[in-house]
Amino acid sequence: MDEIQPDYDVVIVGGGAAGLAAYATAVSQSFLTVLLEKESDLGGTTIFAIGSMTAARTQLQNKRGIEDSTDAFFEDLIVASRTRGVEQICDKSLLRLYAEEAGKTLDWLNELGVVFVGPFPESPHRVPRMHNAVPSAYSFVHRLEGFGTKHGGKILKSYKVSKLVQDDEGRVAGVSGHTILGEPFHFKARKGVIIATGPYSSNQEILKELIPGFIEAEPVNPTATGDGISLCRKIGAWTKNTEIETTQFRFGGRTTGKIGKVATWGVLPQIIGWVVEHFPRSFTNQIIVRLSTTYTAPSDKILLEGGILIDGNGSRFVNELARPYPYAIAKKATSLIRKDLYLLFDSSTAAKLVKWPNYVSTFPGIAYAYLDDYLKFRKDVIHKSYSFETLAWKSNLSPEILKATVDRYNSFAAVHEDRDFGREQLRPIESPPFYLLGPIRPVITVTEGGIAINEKCQALNVRGEVIRGLYVIGDGSAGPLNVSHGMHLGWALTSGRLSVLSILRES
Ligand SMILES: Cc1cc2nc3c(=O)[nH]c(=O)nc-3n(C[C@H](O)[C@H](O)[C@H](O)COP(=O)(O)OP(=O)(O)OC[C@H]3O[C@@H](n4cnc5c(N)ncnc54)[C@H](O)[C@@H]3O)c2cc1C
Repeated sequence: MDEIQPDYDVVIVGGGAAGLAAYATAVSQSFLTVLLEKESDLGGTTIFAIGSMTAARTQLQNKRGIEDSTDAFFEDLIVASRTRGVEQICDKSLLRLYAEEAGKTLDWLNELGVVFVGPFPESPHRVPRMHNAVPSAYSFVHRLEGFGTKHGGKILKSYKVSKLVQDDEGRVAGVSGHTILGEPFHFKARKGVIIATGPYSSNQEILKELIPGFIEAEPVNPTATGDGISLCRKIGAWTKNTEIETTQFRFGGRTTGKIGKVATWGVLPQIIGWVVEHFPRSFTNQIIVRLSTTYTAPSDKILLEGGILIDGNGSRFVNELARPYPYAIAKKATSLIRKDLYLLFDSSTAAKLVKWPNYVSTFPGIAYAYLDDYLKFRKDVIHKSYSFETLAWKSNLSPEILKATVDRYNSFAAVHEDRDFGREQLRPIESPPFYLLGPIRPVITVTEGGIAINEKCQALNVRGEVIRGLYVIGDGSAGPLNVSHGMHLGWALTSGRLSVLSILRES
């Protein structure tokens, strides 16, 4: 379809994982479909992602003889929501919907050419459910865009939607806005408008309004303005579950570069997937690191196994084991002047960070990275030395302060009492070599909650009534709350698929 039409069956706003999943589903149902993206490239926050997706009853689980069920998955997600501290507010019907549908979404993506490795174990799931797209989450963007466009969909980039248009009966019947060149546009939507505008991580105004006590933190994706929240609220939509703390820690890095994007073409993902499954990690990690995003997040295992967290001066500033991890301590870190932080540990902790479940971070393609992987492939964020002075020097910290911090901490460990921050489980940092992992920074990766929706992904108003013609998906919808690794992408892709199936049933 080459022409830009004034009317479509379905208008999708936003070209990340959620919008593109809706796009591919809509064209496969023969809906006349347009997707509008405000940036000059597709991908949104999705191109920053590692690419893990948690799902049950998948063909990959079957292939590996893993028996699973929706009930078991749902029960484990409830446990995960308890750990995250959100069990009470979590929408159980949407969580159940996720448990039922995520596996179908994953198999569908697989049919469209997204290659996954795994599944891998992931706490608190009783069986392996974390599947990883190879080489990275960019595969979702490339494959879904390719499928939708090949089958007649239309994507318009640099089209920023600024208004939802309602008909006389209040039904959302179209959108309007301006292109990057300032030209106005208006599109009618006969069957529905799908809002897939992603998280509001970079919109400090909305964050301050919706998260009580929010302290400014930088977003990983500076273009994640959460426009859908404002667009939908203007016509009476209700926001829900936005109060959840979202600041966490990430190593800095880069998103998938040009070569990484090319690696999602043709049969290359199959080849990479095969290599990852059959070759030693030392070889495959080299490929994956070069192709993918490096915005990984340090796991709590480093702290639980004896590490401490220090600020940009070299001092401790928090009880490192405060829960929920990492939100409780990341929030404290946002008030620091120097926000580059480091994890410090000794060889006894290092000896533990070598195999599941003591991973250093999740990682594109290979699911989990351990200390060896960081020593080989992320030399930019790890230093190892027999002396604190050298570590301090390599990381631009004050050697005196670092040494004093360790001495003080070790004196607390000797009497089993952290007189500064009340940490329990104290182990002295005394056996060389010592390791400094960082810098990590407190950042907003994604946001939780958003526009309230029902199980059909229809937006709800403050009275809980359906706003006809309006569907909200992915981040920015108050979905099931993404309580487990791999659920953000899982929800974005699943809600994208389901929103169109709902439109199909309604029409
Ligand atoms: C570093 C990092 C790693 C992550 N790793 C994982 C992971 O491994 N697994 C996982 O499950 N989750 C992960 N996530 C979270 C995941 O990336 C997001 O939850 C997911 O990408 C959200 O998809 P989305 O389609 O809802 O939003 P997005 O991908 O942000 O897409 C929204 C799109 O809408 C466009 N848009 C916004 N406003 C407008 C407008 N007014 N008009 C037109 N277009 C508009 C945006 O430009 C954007 O392209 C990670 C996130 C980060 C930052």
